[in-house]
Amino acid sequence: MLGIVIDYKRTRNKRLDLSSVYHGLSLQLVAYLLVLSEHGESLAGRPIRPIGAFYVSLLPQYEAVDHPSAAEIEAETFPGAYRPRGLLNAQGLQALDGQLGGSGRSQYFNVFRKKDGKVGHIDASDGAEPGDFQAILQHAAHKLATLADGILDGYVSVNPYRLKDFSPCSWCPMSSVCRFEMGLSDVRFLESLKRSEVFARVREGSSA
Ligand code: SF4
Repeated sequence: MLGIVIDYKRTRNKRLDLSSVYHGLSLQLVAYLLVLSEHGESLAGRPIRPIGAFYVSLLPQYEAVDHPSAAEIEAETFPGAYRPRGLLNAQGLQALDGQLGGSGRSQYFNVFRKKDGKVGHIDASDGAEPGDFQAILQHAAHKLATLADGILDGYVSVNPYRLKDFSPCSWCPMSSVCRFEMGLSDVRFLESLKRSEVFARVREGSSA
């Protein structure tokens, strides 16, 4: 039995950044998959095989309109709202979108299937080949275990990260007491990776 996880969000255009997953910064959605994989079962006791986890934004994306009076009409259509965004094992695509032919773009998920059956436009897609999907799960499990070990070992050093233009210090309410001074203290610069680069790295890790 196949299963997917849906995390509804009251935000616009919520995506799963695999670069953040790789660095252990955004593990919640993938952790749901791990739990489902280990403990999920149907009411009749059949095991559930997780094939995807998605955010579903309940607010529509902002859209440019020619005139303010057109905004009301646009709002009624809610373009881009409710579209699941996350990570999907391409092996389960047919079960989720039975109208998708041998190749093409899914009308429900952000996945494009090439004529050879593989995931196309991998960096802009939510699809993952089965091996890559499992490798992401293994990587996330390892990250979670490492973080838990660090907490048990009392690792609480002030060592914030920066990924692209984002650092948690920007919104942290503890900045007045932690004594970290942005611009003067060292920050951990994390590498921003495309999805294909993340898949390549976790594949390497899972086969090591
Ligand atoms: S402001 Fe201080 S406590 Fe907050 S994220 Fe940055 S380093 Fe950590």
